[in-house]
Amino acid sequence: MTTSLDREKKIIEILQKQGSASIQELAEAFGVSSMTIHRELDKLAEAGIVQKKHGGAALATQSPAGCAMCGKPISERTVFIVQLESGEQKRACCAHCGLMIQSHAKDAQQSLTADYLRGHIISADQAVYILGSELTICCVPSVLSFGSRQDAEKFQKGFGGTLGNMREAVEYLHH
Ligand SMILES: [Zn+2]
Ligand SMILES: [Zn+2]
Repeated sequence: MTTSLDREKKIIEILQKQGSASIQELAEAFGVSSMTIHRELDKLAEAGIVQKKHGGAALATQSPAGCAMCGKPISERTVFIVQLESGEQKRACCAHCGLMIQSHAKDAQQSLTADYLRGHIISADQAVYILGSELTICCVPSVLSFGSRQDAEKFQKGFGGTLGNMREAVEYLHH
């Protein structure tokens, strides 16, 4: 049984891979009703991640609004999405802003972030973070997320910084 968050992650992956998908196709891929897919696409559309089209959806070409924390434009490579209990999603430009939003929101449920090296969407609580690398991609101090420790270590060799989990990344930002 897949959870709604798993499905959202997969939907984004499918759209990244093939550009667009029909509701029918997504409902069949997940074995759920098209109503369920409708609701999930609505949430993703509200968060500015997808654009609903007649009978389907595509990835939004540009986000309607910038980072919910600092207002910067959001790159798909570093995006961090905080899901609130209310169903609302807040998008941030990078893990720096995303983790700040998440740690200040009382009703933050779960977060997604992009793997900086590979660009796909991963769970923020399972990500490996590079804290304070020399390569300043977005906000300072820099916090970048990776799907695997191996990738993070590879990046660290070239650009420095410290490896950490989500809790350590939040602590790092608050010091
Ligand atoms: Zn930001
Ligand atoms: Zn940023």
